[in-house]
Amino acid sequence: MPAVLQPAAQGPARRSTLRCVTSGPLPDPPFRPWQGKDSNGGGFISYRPDDQAAAAAWRQHMREMLGEEGFARWQRSAELIQNPRPLTDTERAVLRQAAAPLLADLAASGLPVPDIREEAHEEREESACGWIQGPDGTGQGIWVLLDSSAAGQVAQLAEQFQDWAADLLHDAGRPLDWPACPRHPGAPHRLDPQVRDDRAVWACWESGQVIWPIGELAMPGGARPGRRRGRRP
Ligand SMILES: [Zn+2]
Repeated sequence: MPAVLQPAAQGPARRSTLRCVTSGPLPDPPFRPWQGKDSNGGGFISYRPDDQAAAAAWRQHMREMLGEEGFARWQRSAELIQNPRPLTDTERAVLRQAAAPLLADLAASGLPVPDIREEAHEEREESACGWIQGPDGTGQGIWVLLDSSAAGQVAQLAEQFQDWAADLLHDAGRPLDWPACPRHPGAPHRLDPQVRDDRAVWACWESGQVIWPIGELAMPGGARPGRRRGRRP
């Protein structure tokens, strides 16, 4: 069962299991033909585009690190960064459906709504991968598991949109928690996307209480229980 379906009690600790990570920071290996050192002592990948020996050494290093299957996926993702792949009809439909309630909640919060690009910049197993682009032109990969329920897909995507929103809010100098829990205004925290009774909901991870269904952050008429206004940042 995907981690996103776990109960709320674990709170933010489980978030790390859902992070969209395809290639984490690499351990600092001994000197390689493709690697240099920056001024802080950290490693970076560096070889001239026409240095085929260094490129081959880099690929071999990645193959050893990732194994054959992981390497093939990594290589495909590297190609997709250069040349994103148009989504299939299924991928497009799945991502559109999962994103719709989140776009509604972002708009209801007065936040910019990202442009959803129907192109894959990476490959993930059993997933539909897309790309969202913000008003400043910065983008982020998004994905949902194809074998998840519709509600599960919304909850998966919700967390990725929360990270996207946090970046926007950070740049605007605003609190990063979106959507903020209305039950804990004194100790602000973002709501936790969960699946309850086959519905994707925003829940308070402290109390486990469902605050509202994802996509219904602003109800027709604006007012929601416990809130004076239909819009919140
Ligand atoms: Zn709360």
